[in-house]
Amino acid sequence: MIVDLGGGRGWLEEKPAKSIARIDARLKHFLQITEAGRTWDEQNKHWVIYQRDGYPIALNPNTPSVHQKGFALDSNEAQRIVPVMEAHGWRRTVYRNGVLVEAWHFEYFENLDNYRSEPVKFSQNADGVWYIDRSQPAPASAGAVPFVPDTPTEEEDMLTLIVNGEHLVTLSPGVFGHITPGDNPTALRNIVRAEDDWQYIGFEQLPGLLRHHGCDLNIWDVRDGKFVVLNPLDGSVREGNVWTAVNALRAAFANKPQPTIDPTPIVEAARAGAYQGAVDGVANAGPQT
Ligand SMILES: [Zn+2]
Repeated sequence: MIVDLGGGRGWLEEKPAKSIARIDARLKHFLQITEAGRTWDEQNKHWVIYQRDGYPIALNPNTPSVHQKGFALDSNEAQRIVPVMEAHGWRRTVYRNGVLVEAWHFEYFENLDNYRSEPVKFSQNADGVWYIDRSQPAPASAGAVPFVPDTPTEEEDMLTLIVNGEHLVTLSPGVFGHITPGDNPTALRNIVRAEDDWQYIGFEQLPGLLRHHGCDLNIWDVRDGKFVVLNPLDGSVREGNVWTAVNALRAAFANKPQPTIDPTPIVEAARAGAYQGAVDGVANAGPQT
């Protein structure tokens, strides 16, 4: 029996799908999944690319791959919450000569799942497709494993920035997020980097850093003194938003209109010294908590 995971994430077999339902509940959001179950045709596409390029590794669809059996998923987010994934029975399995070569590929092993006995309800839609029924309360496991935030690690080239002495942001490849006091910036700071490792920059430096990290330049603004970031999925431009290249791509596929943001006036004003006071005032100031 295969089960739709919801959120456009594709499908898995019954037992791994139950595990994803429990993980979603723990994370309080849908685990990001690039690809889960594959049909023969989908596996064959991967196989053809592997034959042509030698990368990424893919099995012949007649093998078949664990993706075709509905017991594997590829995920970026899962790589940042490996302890959570492992507690729920997921393991990374693609090694070559002892080296993990496909960090994004996870497979499900029910006997390793500490939460396998916790029930998850499935329902069937009018087309007969099984899906995770989220009308029930989250399972008791929610919160049982120490929380690991969905935050890239230092190895992933993450920067924690204080822009013009007051706006806390994080920047990593393809991800730009604004931290508000409600996000507990002190905790975030201590997790991702040493305490004194926040970097103070000015508005005028931001476009170059964004470009370097593969982010669009026109995804931020200052409105009414507030630092705002575009969320490409809903088109909102607000404090506390996160922009990601993946979501921008999704929005482009879905033809979602994006508001026009031009940070040039702020950058030019910063260059002209209009924001200098804020920069000078932060020499010894830490981020607010
Ligand atoms: Zn995979």
